[in-house]
Amino acid sequence: MDINKMCALCEAHDESADHLFFRCSETKKVWDDIRGWLSLWRNISTIRSAIKWTTRHRTSSAILKKARRIAIMATVYGIWKARNAHIFDGTKFDVARTTLLIKSSTYTILYSLYPDDQVIQHLPDTRT
Ligand SMILES: [Zn+2]
Repeated sequence: MDINKMCALCEAHDESADHLFFRCSETKKVWDDIRGWLSLWRNISTIRSAIKWTTRHRTSSAILKKARRIAIMATVYGIWKARNAHIFDGTKFDVARTTLLIKSSTYTILYSLYPDDQVIQHLPDTRT
């Protein structure tokens, strides 16, 4: 069986976990949006470094810190789901849709942990 090792999203590089999640030109657009949303300005190259950084960022509120950790995990999961939908269901990879789903699941988890008004107070509003 011939297995195509090319990244299905950018079609320019071999697909590895590091490429797909952190270096791909397509998934980088998703990260840029999420990082801008939660002011995660440091470049994220591994999950470990991202989580380490969020725990060190002590000036932020507990809710924002939690939001960043949830969003990082939701982004990795969202990219994986979108990549699989692209390959197996023929659903074209869409940065805006993927980003929206990531933000939506981050809000869903936060609303289950904290009262609504606290979440709204500490997170930038994306409903424009
Ligand atoms: Zn790629």
